[in-house]
Amino acid sequence: MGDVGSAPTDGAVSLPRFLVAPEELKAARVVLAGAQLHHLRARRLRVGSALVLADGMGTQRRGVVAALDRHQAVIEIVDELSVHRDSTLQLTIAQAALKGDKLDWVIEKTTELGVTELVIFTSERTVGRVGVERRTRWSRVASSAAQQCQRSTLPAIGGPISFDELLARSTDAVRLFFWEGHAGSGLAAVHRQHSRAASVLAVIGPEGGFSTGEARRAEAAGLHTVSLGPRILRAETAALVAGTLCQFLWGDLGEDG
Ligand code: SAH
Repeated sequence: MGDVGSAPTDGAVSLPRFLVAPEELKAARVVLAGAQLHHLRARRLRVGSALVLADGMGTQRRGVVAALDRHQAVIEIVDELSVHRDSTLQLTIAQAALKGDKLDWVIEKTTELGVTELVIFTSERTVGRVGVERRTRWSRVASSAAQQCQRSTLPAIGGPISFDELLARSTDAVRLFFWEGHAGSGLAAVHRQHSRAASVLAVIGPEGGFSTGEARRAEAAGLHTVSLGPRILRAETAALVAGTLCQFLWGDLGEDG
């Protein structure tokens, strides 16, 4: 029996990945230390092993371990990688703050789904205080999910902002307000009207949902209120389903791989 595992087409898909600063990637050699060195050792890389260095902004290079000691690993850049895993759709998911670590989960999963930006906002029924100090944690979650799913760019993380600030954001995106109280049109109807949109904003409520007043304000601000079907989804499920459907309708899910 031969090897039935399918070899990745570009040979770099299965290589260990390391995130480095954009200016570092411009050099012919990159030094990895600290947590990066720890990761390199955990992956059992040695002198001569191949890896991928990414700057999180779209540039990815293939490198090889040229030297390795207790304090650092020197990586020699071999070539540029032209694998692009970023969606053609500019997708922003605005998620109302959620309890516990649910927001971390939404950030991780929507990063895998290829969102361009995540904005956290507060609304009438959000519970508790969401401090800006949580942004460092959100960025860390996004960065590790981006690394795992081999995205070449990191999603931007914004907020926390208020519901009114969210509605007032100037954007040329098709703006979708997912409202569980909405019995009217679904996403397919909005897609028929705006099938060529390059940019979409999807707004998802908190555990307690949106009030009728908030939905009216969103409509008055020009957002499309849309349904995600007859069942009420949990907020974190709704974020994932909305992201998936937007990538399917306007982005790169459902295309040939
Ligand atoms: N607590 C509310 C449900 C909130 S669901 C209730 O029991 O009625 C949390 C968020 O997920 C909602 O604010 C909405 O943005 C989204 N959502 C969940 N199910 C949805 C549906 N069927 N249609 C549109 N949006 C939905």
